[in-house]
Amino acid sequence: MSRYIPLSIPNFEGNERKYVDDAIDKAWVSTAGSYVTELEKRLAQFLCIDNVSVCQSGTSALHLALVEAGVVPGDIVLVPPLTFIAAVNPVRYQFATPLFIDCDDSLCMDSEKLRRFCQEKCVMENGHLTHNGKIVRALVAVHVFGNMADMETIMEVAGRYNIRVIEDATEALGTRYTKGTYSGKYAGTIGDFGAYSFNGNKIITTGGGGAITAKKPETVDHLRYLSTQAKDDPHFYIHNEVGYNYRMTNLQAALGVAQMEKLTEFIERKHRNFDLYKKLFHGFGLGKLLPYREGTYSNQWFYSLIIDRTKVKAALKEIIAGLQEYGVETRAVWGLINEQLPYMKEECFELEKGPYYGARVLNIPASTQLTEDDIYFAAEKIKAVLEELKE
Ligand SMILES: *Cc1c(COP(=O)(O)O)cnc(C)c1O
Repeated sequence: MSRYIPLSIPNFEGNERKYVDDAIDKAWVSTAGSYVTELEKRLAQFLCIDNVSVCQSGTSALHLALVEAGVVPGDIVLVPPLTFIAAVNPVRYQFATPLFIDCDDSLCMDSEKLRRFCQEKCVMENGHLTHNGKIVRALVAVHVFGNMADMETIMEVAGRYNIRVIEDATEALGTRYTKGTYSGKYAGTIGDFGAYSFNGNKIITTGGGGAITAKKPETVDHLRYLSTQAKDDPHFYIHNEVGYNYRMTNLQAALGVAQMEKLTEFIERKHRNFDLYKKLFHGFGLGKLLPYREGTYSNQWFYSLIIDRTKVKAALKEIIAGLQEYGVETRAVWGLINEQLPYMKEECFELEKGPYYGARVLNIPASTQLTEDDIYFAAEKIKAVLEELKE
């Protein structure tokens, strides 16, 4: 059989089966169940925080964050153009308006452009930053591919202009600062809210699932309440707010607890694999690996090869198809969100790096199961295809 290297697949080498079987044996499969609270406990421990609430998806975590941040119809929420669209859709669930701020060379929000947008395009009115009369209520900072956004500047700017910071850490569970103001702090625990995802291709998975945290533990309690239909009395069905059916199930959480036991090891494997890729692409003229931010320890969830467009002009589609024939699955970075049909008419601020990287970033195989041999194979084929397509 010919060899095939997938881009990113889940890894169930641990206690997954045992815990899921246990949940089934005990017939605790719904949202009440000991694995749900156990997963919350382990996440909080890992992230060095007091309170985390698990939910059905990263998207639902982001939606809850926007609700709790007080985003109401007509508000503006600052969002990135180059990421997975789930980071932006919940803004529309609240009937608010997304406004796109460019990314920097880490693919995360450009903090200096954020500062300039606030300074030059907005005014303070009654304690709120406004743009064309609309309140800029919140921003969504995505830690793209496990790379930490520049939280130092983002927090400073957001503080000055009274903007709530929602960290989309769906791709960055385990990424943390090792230097500076936030040394020791994990992605998702710095802003007002942090959202995580356990979708099938994330660093750990529960099939589908997510988690949310907030600065104050009481806020997380309220988020948990909102995620369980805002039930105020379990026996008499009293509900004093509009809630959601966003709680994680015990079956998902059973998987999650087993995955948490492997998280540190998964991150170490991602590092080992990235280091080998780095060695193999060293001195290669047609593409470079995107580094992770200095002063951080990234979970290195996904690897990005930046194609040199002065030498390789072929579309990403062509490169991906070429590699597919060699048995190596790769992926183009996302299509720009501001160019998608539902968002084409929204305002953008100085988009330049977003489109630049959008046309150049190729994601290469990054599963935790990859062997050294797989990586040699993948790197060799990637180089070969780029050489073939060189002008
Ligand atoms: C995966 C992802 C999400 C959404 O998570 P789901 O659990 O799939 O809902 C949101 N934002 C980004 C950047 C993601 O990569």
